[in-house]
Amino acid sequence: MFCGINSDIQRPKGENQMKTWRDFNVEQVIKLIRKSEKNITEERIEELMDDACELLTVNLSCLTCGKRFPMNNMQHKCKEEDIWLYQYIQNSVGNKQVKKEYLSLLKEKYPLHKGHDIAYRGINFKTHQEYRMFMESLKENSFTFKEITSWTLRHDYAVRFARCIQKGTRENDDIRKQEIRAMFNMKANITGYKGIILAIHLTKNKVLCDISKEGIGNMTEEEVILLPGTYQVVLNKIIDKELGKTDWNEENIRLAELLI
Ligand SMILES: [Zn+2]
Repeated sequence: MFCGINSDIQRPKGENQMKTWRDFNVEQVIKLIRKSEKNITEERIEELMDDACELLTVNLSCLTCGKRFPMNNMQHKCKEEDIWLYQYIQNSVGNKQVKKEYLSLLKEKYPLHKGHDIAYRGINFKTHQEYRMFMESLKENSFTFKEITSWTLRHDYAVRFARCIQKGTRENDDIRKQEIRAMFNMKANITGYKGIILAIHLTKNKVLCDISKEGIGNMTEEEVILLPGTYQVVLNKIIDKELGKTDWNEENIRLAELLI
């Protein structure tokens, strides 16, 4: 997974085991080592990593709870609520049930930052029917969110979510790949039928957690997670499907299948 070096190591998840750099996302550090010494052996990298951990204050993201810790101070007990949050942001499909006791903990830990007033949510609709059903339930600019939902402070990220079915937002990754392939074949600007962007005014009572500045698991999506509820929302943008507008090549397709 990370440059092959720690992929076959059983990662300790127990509370009382000492953390080592193998329990963290060290991708960037190892990249740097390989860049400075091209033919370096795995053993030498391991030695360097051990040495670095005594000296460096570089922040690494824990592979279990996603929280960031300096290399020379990695010992911590991964907290249950952080593990849940990390799993949720990695795969927003599977795990939306928040345990009651996590709610207040997360709210307290990651309160809404001052100045974070507007958040956006990009949604890509696969079919006309999905789109129609959603628009019908968007009554007088208010919408009922039955589960917790992820929003972003960045309009450009929301556009990305509205344009393309994203990795981790559908259970079946094959469908995502088929949709992206179809988009390229049609030289279309979006996957599916239509994309929309919602905007919402953020208030403390709506927000479960504002993790836009946390860098949990090295994520950079400037995410704010909202509690279920009925909220006023604004339909900020509708992205219609346009055909024959783009000129994708095979390399673009391959990259998009990997990255989007
Ligand atoms: Zn941890």
